[in-house]
Amino acid sequence: MLSIPPYVNTLLTALRRAGYDACPVGGCVRDGLMGRTPADWDLGTAAPPERMRQIFAGYRLIETGLRHGTVTVLTEGGPVEITAFRSDGAYHDGRHPDRVAFVPTLEEDLARRDFTVNAMALAPDGTVVDLYGGREDLAAGLIRCVGEPDRRFGEDALRILRALRFASRLDFAIEEKTARSAVENRALLGKISRERVFAELTGILTGPGAGRVLRQYGDVIFQVIPELAPQAGFDQKNPNHIHDIWTHTTMAVDAVEPDPVLRLTMLLHDVGKPAAYFTDEAGCGHFYGHARIGAQMADDILRRLRCSGEIRRQVVTFITWHDIEPPRTKKAMGRLASKLGVDTVRRLIQCWRADSDDRARDVRERNLAVIARSEEALEEALAGPAPCFSVKSLAVDGRDIMALGVPEGPAVGRVLKALFGRVLDGGVANERQTLLAAARDIIEDCNLHRTDV
Ligand code: ATP
Ligand code: MG
Repeated sequence: MLSIPPYVNTLLTALRRAGYDACPVGGCVRDGLMGRTPADWDLGTAAPPERMRQIFAGYRLIETGLRHGTVTVLTEGGPVEITAFRSDGAYHDGRHPDRVAFVPTLEEDLARRDFTVNAMALAPDGTVVDLYGGREDLAAGLIRCVGEPDRRFGEDALRILRALRFASRLDFAIEEKTARSAVENRALLGKISRERVFAELTGILTGPGAGRVLRQYGDVIFQVIPELAPQAGFDQKNPNHIHDIWTHTTMAVDAVEPDPVLRLTMLLHDVGKPAAYFTDEAGCGHFYGHARIGAQMADDILRRLRCSGEIRRQVVTFITWHDIEPPRTKKAMGRLASKLGVDTVRRLIQCWRADSDDRARDVRERNLAVIARSEEALEEALAGPAPCFSVKSLAVDGRDIMALGVPEGPAVGRVLKALFGRVLDGGVANERQTLLAAARDIIEDCNLHRTDV
């Protein structure tokens, strides 16, 4: 039996005391039945929105969803969304119902929900209201539309991506008819806002079933990122690669930790390959320059999908550097770390590993050995007495340089940069007195003294 936390029970009791049906519904019931702790609790109620506002007058409320019948109540246990039972009228734009009617019964409300596993509610006596076989589908691990898939995807095409997201996140299969309809109706995704597409895509990528879902539903993914389509079945004609590019991509996604930036990186890391492909006289395939081409394409794709600048920039950096020969020496690694930052290099190393995961065994072992050496080199570079990977981590700053007689302005930065170069090359220790002595030399050599004193 599902246990409802006290802060949720308090809200349910308040609604029921006011004479309205109320129950947990949707994702929390699904997660609870799966033995998972629900991330949040959504409630359904027969109370119309204006009554909810009165009933919860003592709470802080968020009313942005009011038009759709949703009031969010801020409780000590977190926000709880309460939605009036509703049934949706016709959809003309494939996304928004033309009319939302608040209806008195839970049954009608469940009928408008997307998938059987999301269409269950918990009655006051603790029984599960399950009108569409949700429990059976949960046990079988199936995502199935409530009702006719073609009609449901036609009403709201976002559900196509939601089906993939739940299949990935719960590691479920998509029921056959639902799956066929999702693929057949994929062109409808053009009606969906790019922000929403991107949010669902990120959800698909970060679930435990991501690689499998990408392999099975490549055509749906290609609908939202057409640039990936040429990867499908693309024979790399190269002994370093045992799979076609798309299969490799999906395996690389699985091989990296489920962090949105890293998963997006692996999804797009080889997007430049088909454009960079050529075969040598021996008939062997090569992809010189694909990282740079791919980084530019990824930048365009992520802009188009309205991805945040911060995530986009990280992904583009990783793709730019994903195909370099990993540096093996402390010095070379120090240079890379000073260019990209230590944390970025650590994550880049994860991308290199993921990219090697599905190679032929000997190639893979060689690659992994080189990557392990590179990782050691990074640790060696970090182990010095005062590791320095940016001008900022020098043991002197601009004030020190000005105190040596350099006028405020670009010359100060030039001296710091020159010092940093010497530290990186290992000729000068990152130690204050040593740096000040080296700075005096640089100032002398370049004649950077203040001329007016
Ligand atoms: P999560 O844990 O990802 O939040 P969830 O099941 O709670 O999963 P939400 O997107 O929060 O998913 O939606 C809550 C519920 O609302 C769903 O369980 C489903 O019943 C219903 N729902 C959400 N979006 C749609 C939609 N586009 N079409 C039909 N029903 C939907
Ligand atoms: Mg939810």
